[in-house]
Amino acid sequence: MRVAWKHIGLLAMLACVLALFPTIVQAASEPSIVVDGKKLELSGGASVEIKDGNVIIPIRVVTENLGFRVNWDGATRGIDITDGSRLIRLTIDSKTAYVDGEEKQLLAAPALKKGVTSVPLRFVSEQMGMNVQWHAATKTAIVNRPAPPVVETPSITVDEIRVDGRQLTIAVGGKVEPKVFTMSGPDRIVIDLPGTSLSRTLEERAGQKGVVTTASAPEIANVRYALFSSNPSTVRIVMDLSSATPYQVSRGAGNEVIVELLGGTTPDPATGGETAPGIPGTDGTLPGTDGTIPGTDGSTVTPGNGSETPPVIDPEFPPVSSGKKLIVLDAGHGGKDPGTIGYSKTQEKGFNLSVVLKVQALLQNDPNMEVVLTRDNDTFIELGERGPIANRLGADAFISVHANSVENSPSASGTESYYYEEASKAFTQVMHKHLLKATGFKDRGVKKASFKVLRDTQMISVLLESGFISNPTEEAALFTEEMQQKIAQAIVDALYEYFGFSQP
Ligand SMILES: [Zn+2]
Repeated sequence: MRVAWKHIGLLAMLACVLALFPTIVQAASEPSIVVDGKKLELSGGASVEIKDGNVIIPIRVVTENLGFRVNWDGATRGIDITDGSRLIRLTIDSKTAYVDGEEKQLLAAPALKKGVTSVPLRFVSEQMGMNVQWHAATKTAIVNRPAPPVVETPSITVDEIRVDGRQLTIAVGGKVEPKVFTMSGPDRIVIDLPGTSLSRTLEERAGQKGVVTTASAPEIANVRYALFSSNPSTVRIVMDLSSATPYQVSRGAGNEVIVELLGGTTPDPATGGETAPGIPGTDGTLPGTDGTIPGTDGSTVTPGNGSETPPVIDPEFPPVSSGKKLIVLDAGHGGKDPGTIGYSKTQEKGFNLSVVLKVQALLQNDPNMEVVLTRDNDTFIELGERGPIANRLGADAFISVHANSVENSPSASGTESYYYEEASKAFTQVMHKHLLKATGFKDRGVKKASFKVLRDTQMISVLLESGFISNPTEEAALFTEEMQQKIAQAIVDALYEYFGFSQP
């Protein structure tokens, strides 16, 4: 059983008491800790120890003095420490730690002695972004918190997107420099607005992406928009065209960005419809003597560059007109990162990949869903790249498949499912219900945790820990075709239930 989250921050009173202590550290026989220039007074006889050159502190110091939340799992002897955004997972007597799911090695293992859990100060502090220095002469560990990061929020909102005849008008809350380029197969004009986000109204109307349907011009099939990237924050608007059509970009009243289709369609007899050279938007040749477009208020807008290299994964978000939900399946780890290691030395990465490939096979030709995998073979993908893949695609759901393990604890067992944003909780509960039924393992429940892939994704997301490969029974089961097929089917069933599709 897990104890409840405990959060005891630095109390104002404690801060006052600490302020009375001199900030210049005197030589002392007992090791001490100074946080942000203030020496910590450890309560109730708690002491700081030096073990193999590492400063070991009681876990109570982590909660009471450093202000992190600590969660203890007696079954796995696991210690989860979080600052609200990062998750450090430690295990008693194990030198392996996980920071946001990434494996790290400790110099000293956490210990449990006489009911007191202690952890290495430097590792915990540094992983939380603090700076730690050790002064041997005074036996003092000096911990400094970094200044709070400046979060850059885009100040310009995209307020309205409308189509009048052959003209697309984008109302924005400030001056933006649009990047406009064309893509073919099917033909479309892509407008990126760097430094912008969707206005609350647009977001409430359609979430992170939407469609402006139009019947006003035969050349314009659809206008779609989405928050394309969060770093830098960029709204992307795509005009789906019935055929390649020249266009011009100008600036309207206020800071409106106007994209107007010009002339008629210009099929090239030689290429059967390919855009001919010299057409605005395809090679940068645009009206105006200096290559810029005069705006109605006399300002100019830099022309789009048709030769812009599209991103590697997918040039743009997939057409929503297909009506299918886009599911991104993420097999954890891969390549040089084996993930956790099983009781009989199996590797987690192989299990994860097998499961997502089976889900993909089940959803091939599915009338309701399309699937994209972050990896479909044994390659290494950075943790930080996985969420953005789904974001760039404008995915509807993100599922990260993993398996658990605890060193030297073969009895730890069970299935657990993680979410981060509240919006993903219901989805995770449905996933967990089906997954648990498939594995038949112990129910470890639906949990909230700050895993990086869950934090990074802008759509509903879940991280599944089907079972413990450090447990010989669960390991044997998880590596059978039969169990992997059951788990894959459970994921599909959960998607059907959550999205309300009727079973084929
Ligand atoms: Zn994993």
